[in-house]
Amino acid sequence: MTQKTRGILTVVSGFSGAGKGTIMKELMNAHGERYALSISATTRAPRPGETDGTEYFFRSREEFEQMIADGALIEYAEYVGNYYGTPRAYVEEQLSAGRDVILEIEIQGALKVKQRFPDTLLLFVTPPSAAILKERLTGRGTETADVIESRLVRAAEEIRGIEAYDYLIVNDKLPECVKEVHQIISNEHYRISRNASFIEEMRRELDMFSKKSSNI
Ligand code: ADP
Ligand code: 5GP
Repeated sequence: MTQKTRGILTVVSGFSGAGKGTIMKELMNAHGERYALSISATTRAPRPGETDGTEYFFRSREEFEQMIADGALIEYAEYVGNYYGTPRAYVEEQLSAGRDVILEIEIQGALKVKQRFPDTLLLFVTPPSAAILKERLTGRGTETADVIESRLVRAAEEIRGIEAYDYLIVNDKLPECVKEVHQIISNEHYRISRNASFIEEMRRELDMFSKKSSNI
């Protein structure tokens, strides 16, 4: 009998520019066999270097609305003028196969996922300070000044909802941060509530011992 838990569904949220995408890339490089990273659908335009099916499935508003109508998304939300949503099939497949699935999504979507799957682990990533957030957003060089401003306004709203999350990850030094995320998800596997079938089996076996000894 081995201790083998179901795949854990983890949501990683955090301000735009906090470093979520960078952390996920490193986590997959280091432990890609352990994790399945869900690829979202979005109506926003690809950034330079992004390709359809790698960072996102880039879709028109009409196509996205069709996915909503078909029930093909676990959750979706509008974020700074665009739709973003999590395709259902991949997440369900991977969880059933026992892999840890990570969704990198914003807070409204995170709360919907938690409501639907209450044992979801919620992680929130921040940079060490607001000034560093602005620096990272500017340094990334992928958004106009206006979009950066609206993402900073959005960050101020998002931090109001942080208490719904389980863990805070401060992304200062990238390698440490990646280790922390990996450690937190790994530790979740040891939670008593996630080991129900192992515990049930152990109970059955121990009951057999006590029955045998009461027969002696
Ligand atoms: P998000 O996915 O949260 O919007 P990104 O992963 O795109 O954020 O990171 C935003 C910018 O910050 C990128 O230019 C990235 O290279 C940089 N960055 C991410 N993590 C760190 C870190 N620990 N130290 C310095 N720069 C970082
Ligand atoms: P970006 O445009 O910077 O790639 O993403 C903007 C925001 O959308 C980020 O906070 C990101 O986590 C979030 N996001 C990405 N995919 C999804 C999704 O499938 N659902 C929801 N609700 N948010 C998402």
